[in-house]
Amino acid sequence: MARVYNFNAGPSVLPVEALEYAQKELLDFSGSGMSVLECSHRGKEYEAIHNEAAAGIRKLVNVPEEYAILFLQGGASLQFAMVPMNLLAAGQTADYINSGAWAAKAIKEAKLLGSVNVAANTEKEIPTRVPRLDELKLTKGASYVHLTSNETIAGSQWKTFPKTEAPLVADMSSDFLSRPFDVKQFGLIYAGAQKNLGPAGVALVIIRKDLAGRVSDKAPTMLKYTTHIEENSLYNTPPCFSIYFIALVTRWIQKIGLENLYRQNVAKARRIYDVLDAGQFYKGTAVRECRSDMNVTFRLPSEALEDTFVKEASKLGLKGLKGHRSVGGIRASIYNAFPPDGVDKLVEFMRDFQKRNG
Ligand code: PMP
Repeated sequence: MARVYNFNAGPSVLPVEALEYAQKELLDFSGSGMSVLECSHRGKEYEAIHNEAAAGIRKLVNVPEEYAILFLQGGASLQFAMVPMNLLAAGQTADYINSGAWAAKAIKEAKLLGSVNVAANTEKEIPTRVPRLDELKLTKGASYVHLTSNETIAGSQWKTFPKTEAPLVADMSSDFLSRPFDVKQFGLIYAGAQKNLGPAGVALVIIRKDLAGRVSDKAPTMLKYTTHIEENSLYNTPPCFSIYFIALVTRWIQKIGLENLYRQNVAKARRIYDVLDAGQFYKGTAVRECRSDMNVTFRLPSEALEDTFVKEASKLGLKGLKGHRSVGGIRASIYNAFPPDGVDKLVEFMRDFQKRNG
């Protein structure tokens, strides 16, 4: 069966090369005579690929030695709670920047656990955007400052990160490994894997090790970063297959080069934004300066036309273009592994659709 063009927001398209590699060694992983789904997480074959996944990430974004790379369960959603549980001490305040639905979810969890200052709020603004640096009202002596680097639903993305006194914490679920950036600007980064990194079932955490020491002794063992740092993410049984696949994806990115991938991502997104800007028919959802290179969101003149657009596109093999159920509209998620010729196909369809319905 031919593969479709998969615009899903996550789980989403993965590199064919990595899928084929996993398929090829599914019955016999690394000469072990068993699948990676069957082998012990304490065995040498698994240990090698586990460490390769972390080393691949360390290399791709130059993660310094004073940071640990962890593979945890519970998705990015559990990080919404683990971050304040570990980093926000009683009597202190954390600054949160509310740029949309995902940031708002992080804020909701943090408020259950401690004192939160919302340093800026653009959650409900349309067109969507992330706050400007001059709008941030940060707290002196804050425990940390939290932001969402790419709002997957709103289609907005931070292009320049604020320089903050307190450690910067970022939910990079939907744009980690899509562009180079300076890890040293952050105290903690987390990301659900199921966009640019690999399959669902694992969340990546990159944490400056000294910050993990803030946690209270009373915190449950599994919810402490220190536990997972000490045990190299092998305190309990990890999601072996997902981590294995991350290793394959990092091999793929190393071959292409992160800079090259980034350039390709920007070019792919620009091709779609150019169609939006060429007339009045399509209307981009995000303000121009913070348009996402990962999730291109837009509206058509009516919801009925949006329905027809999604249906016709699907018939052409362009799948998963329906916007998030909470906001409607159209969303083209074009992560690293989404092929440029799929963008060509979408652009061609958009022009044709406009001609027939504009
Ligand atoms: N943050 C962002 C920016 C996301 O896009 C998502 C999922 N789409 C999440 C957090 C939640 O991730 P998970 O489903 O892994 O909990």
